[in-house]
Amino acid sequence: MPHDAALRRPPLAALAHWLRGSMGARLIALFLGLLLVVQLAGLAALQASFARHARSVLPERLHTGSRVLQGLLDRQAQALQDGARLVAADPAFHEQLRSDDAAIIAAALNQHGTRLGATEAALVTPDFQLRASRQPDGTELAALAGRLAAAAATGGRACQVALLGGRAHHVVLVPIKAPQPAGWLLMGKPLDGGLAREMQSLSALQLTLLTQGPDSDAWLPAHSTLAPAQAQTLARHAWRAGQAPATLGAAGAELAVQPLWLTTPDSPGAGAVLAVLSLPLDDALRLPRDVQMALLAISVVGFAAFGLLGVLCVRRVTTPLGRLAAAADRLGAGDVATPVTDGVHRDDELGHLARAFEQMRVGVEHKQKEIVKLAYWDALTGLPNRVQFREALREAIRAAGDSGAPRTTVSVVMIDLDRFKQVNDVLGYRFGDLLLARIAERLSQHTVRGADLVARLGGDEFAVLLRDGGIDVARSVAQRIERAFDTPLTLEDHAIDMGGGIGFACWPQHAFDADTLLSRAEVAMHVAKRRGSGPQPYDPALDASSAQTLSLLSELRHAVDTGELRLLLQPKLALDSGDVVGAETLVRWQHPQRGLLAPPQFIPFAEQTGFIRSLTLWVFEEAARHWGTLESAGMRMPLSVNLSTRDLLDPELPQKLDALLVRHRVPAEAFCLEVTESAIMEDPQRAQATLDRLSALGFKLSIDDFGTGYSSLAHLKRLPVDELKIDKRFVLGMQADADDAKVVRSTIDLAHNLGLSVVAEGVENAAVWERLRELNCDQAQGFHLGRPMAAGEFLQWNARWVTRLRPDVPRGQVVLH
Ligand code: C2E
Ligand code: CA
Ligand code: CA
Repeated sequence: MPHDAALRRPPLAALAHWLRGSMGARLIALFLGLLLVVQLAGLAALQASFARHARSVLPERLHTGSRVLQGLLDRQAQALQDGARLVAADPAFHEQLRSDDAAIIAAALNQHGTRLGATEAALVTPDFQLRASRQPDGTELAALAGRLAAAAATGGRACQVALLGGRAHHVVLVPIKAPQPAGWLLMGKPLDGGLAREMQSLSALQLTLLTQGPDSDAWLPAHSTLAPAQAQTLARHAWRAGQAPATLGAAGAELAVQPLWLTTPDSPGAGAVLAVLSLPLDDALRLPRDVQMALLAISVVGFAAFGLLGVLCVRRVTTPLGRLAAAADRLGAGDVATPVTDGVHRDDELGHLARAFEQMRVGVEHKQKEIVKLAYWDALTGLPNRVQFREALREAIRAAGDSGAPRTTVSVVMIDLDRFKQVNDVLGYRFGDLLLARIAERLSQHTVRGADLVARLGGDEFAVLLRDGGIDVARSVAQRIERAFDTPLTLEDHAIDMGGGIGFACWPQHAFDADTLLSRAEVAMHVAKRRGSGPQPYDPALDASSAQTLSLLSELRHAVDTGELRLLLQPKLALDSGDVVGAETLVRWQHPQRGLLAPPQFIPFAEQTGFIRSLTLWVFEEAARHWGTLESAGMRMPLSVNLSTRDLLDPELPQKLDALLVRHRVPAEAFCLEVTESAIMEDPQRAQATLDRLSALGFKLSIDDFGTGYSSLAHLKRLPVDELKIDKRFVLGMQADADDAKVVRSTIDLAHNLGLSVVAEGVENAAVWERLRELNCDQAQGFHLGRPMAAGEFLQWNARWVTRLRPDVPRGQVVLH
């Protein structure tokens, strides 16, 4: 997900996304979650146990509280009593009493009351009648003095809590002895809020003082440390004397309460004062604040420590896992060269996994190398194969193009061995393999400069890539290869004379890309083979795959179907009599756009593509028709038909021709089959087999273009041949060139010795005709006698020839044009 999209997500969704995406995050979340559960469970157990304990000690706390309160009250009462005693024993006070002056006595009471914090101070007679008081209205004090009389009479003093003016007071009654008993001093000090606050700070209990007037049942809150609403609730409760601690609901809180009666319940008309100690249950049962804080601190530290440790632990697992995943990604992306190093030295499961990964990588790398080797190397010779060669060539062209140097050239020299199939057939495939390996060695030794690359493209085809070398370099390398083949190879007692067709092509002169360059070198190589002419540079004029000829194949098919082909006849004449003794059929293509095309413009292409077989069959069909036409015109003579290499290698050719004879009701001797030497030498054994069968069917056989190939007459002797055609090159040159003349003469002699008849082609003038007659040549063919003509034309020519233009009458003046 893109960064900004992640940012836009709400935090919870982002957390969920993070948890889903990271195993480490989930583990840490699980750890912390567990810790939280444990903490909460502990806290709950602690709280429950604490609450149980607190509840059990609650009565005891309240009881202790009431004792503390009692103590506080006693202390206050004692202080008041002590103060009163001191006043009662003071001689100055006695003196004031003795004055019997009401104003003096009132002032003394005022002064001592103020000093002791007593709001009430009174002088009581020995028989407990009020004599003087600090406050003007003494009714309540008089009644109080009456109530205290009994206690004072028996105990010599009295001390209690009493209601005065609706407020709770400590009251004390002490005797005045001056030195004889002179009455009693009564002092009253109000119980104030200080008592409740002191009680709270001493016992953590809340104190509420309630008062009840002498003529009322209702309690009124006097002082309270509770909230006013809670104090009101306490006031509304029906308190009874001797009541045990209890719980009360007060303003939404539960209070544990303990009442304490401060006044004697059974004094009629005196009112009552009640102290209620209380404790909110929530506070009592809740864990104390310091414990809570300690627990919180422990939790926070625990969480932090757990989280930190969790992150460290998880990272120890997830980091190597992440690295292994990255290594797996690398492997998946095809990078098998980078070793897996992370975690391989660990002793745990991750180490095991990392080592397993590394082993897998090594295995894959090994396999890949093997596959690459199989894909890029030729197992037999150890040389690069076609695939690698092609890639290297592409790379070289790219590098040369990138370098920008204007004179950089890349060349390909291609070699196809001659007669390798023969070696395989005769000496076996094992020997053939060994031979290929030796040839590969020789090629590598003799031809390769530093940057050059020798490859076996397949079968008996090799190629050399010259990364930096133009036509001249390519030519010299090609010539070196040719010379390297001059020395026969010795292998297992056999001396093998290997040769081959060598062609070369250069980038960028001949092609702009690797594939075209390869196919152009191949074209040159095929031309070299066909011509047997040594290393051959690519020449667009020869190219059956150049742009001009590429569309030819479909056009050629079309031509056969729609009758664009013509089969011309060129007469063959007997040199001794001048009779027309036969004719050679020569094909032409009446191309709708390009006009009349001669055989060299499409026959090599047809040969290369294999289309020649169909074309040959068409020629035979047409020739059979022509033969019928000639025969019905009274000219029964054999027609010569040219066969190409591919035809000779077609094992079904004899039976196809046989069927054709039957179909056209034509005898086999109607045809003479012309075969070139080089076609035979391509695969001599198969050629011989085909020729034997054709001869057995009754076809006459002729060796065409004799003298251009390497075949010896001795070899030809073994073939079922009837006729030899001396190549026109020698015939054309025999006037000017003594060597050519010699070749013609010796060929005629040798052929006659072997019992073959001899035809000279390319007879262009009467002198040559004459010379050939002298040399005893049997037949002649040439423009001097007749150009290739359509069948109708041929008949007309023949008619003229027979009547007027026979070269022998008068000889040497034959002009046909
Ligand atoms: P080829 O079999 O050697 O045919 C003889 C060639 O010599 C013919 O050329 C012919 O026109 C030419 N020629 C004949 N007399 C003279 C002469 O006095 N002077 C000169 N300079 N040339 C002469 P064409 O017809 O152009 O054929 C060229 C080659 O094409 C043939 O050479 C043959 O190899 C091939 N070819 C022609 N027709 C066929 C065919 O139907 N099938 C096959 N497979 N090949 C054919
Ligand atoms: Ca021919
Ligand atoms: Ca010829």
